[in-house]
Amino acid sequence: MTIITRFAPSPSGFLHLGHAYAAIYAANCANGSSDRFLLRIEDIDQSRCNLSFEKSIFHDLSWLGLDWESPVRRQSEHFDDYDDALQKLKVAGFVYPCFCTRKEILHEVIAAGNAPHGNDKVIYPGTCKNLGESEQEELISSGKPYAFRLNMKKAVEYTGGLAWYDRIKGKQIARPEIFGDIIVARKEFSTSYHLAVTIDDHLQGVSLITRGSDLFDSSHIHRLLQALLNLDSPCYEHHRLITTPIGRRIAKRDKTNRLADLRERGMSPMDIYKMIELTPW
Ligand code: GLU
Repeated sequence: MTIITRFAPSPSGFLHLGHAYAAIYAANCANGSSDRFLLRIEDIDQSRCNLSFEKSIFHDLSWLGLDWESPVRRQSEHFDDYDDALQKLKVAGFVYPCFCTRKEILHEVIAAGNAPHGNDKVIYPGTCKNLGESEQEELISSGKPYAFRLNMKKAVEYTGGLAWYDRIKGKQIARPEIFGDIIVARKEFSTSYHLAVTIDDHLQGVSLITRGSDLFDSSHIHRLLQALLNLDSPCYEHHRLITTPIGRRIAKRDKTNRLADLRERGMSPMDIYKMIELTPW
């Protein structure tokens, strides 16, 4: 069976060793004669992305010897696809407008005695879920910015139990409910990471989604969105993350691990493959 994988960076900074690992990993998984390796530019957040970072992505990946299929899908050119999906979720009554600011949400959560600790994600307390139609309309016409949130309870009741498959960890029971009412369309632009990647992977026919283990939990949400939108569920493979010598995650602002800097310091693509312990495809 043909395997279609993809590497999906955001052009909001320079690629580093962690990106090299993810890109080569995805390319290596598509090494059969009929397999395909795609590149997707995830630039829905236009305030953080720019063309010079995008150019450096192409340059770094070519330098590593990777070869991807044309045309490259650029998310900013496909807002219509995300709007269509959002429209379907709206019509089915799975989403509601949310006018809360982050600050208001945090205050409400703390007031309810659920102050987040450490890296805890704040679960939305549902403030806007029960707004009546006239209240929603009033707030919208007053110009207050709003996002769209998924009514998780309703969504999960509709889909019933779901599972997805990770090639390393095996069958996973989907647990999207642990995230509460997630945002599917942000205030600034009418989609979100979760909605856009689910639609893109479907439209691009990706059959094996490889990505870092930091995104493992996101797959629970993507599986739910697939079920709500009647899309097939691809296979997943979440790989290890490349860390600094002291075990920290590599940050985009950390210059020392950037591919461009390593290249300038005289390293070859082979040196990079050795550093991340992968072999060229
Ligand atoms: N754009 C995401 C990132 O740069 C990757 C998304 C994905 O692989 O689903 O981390």
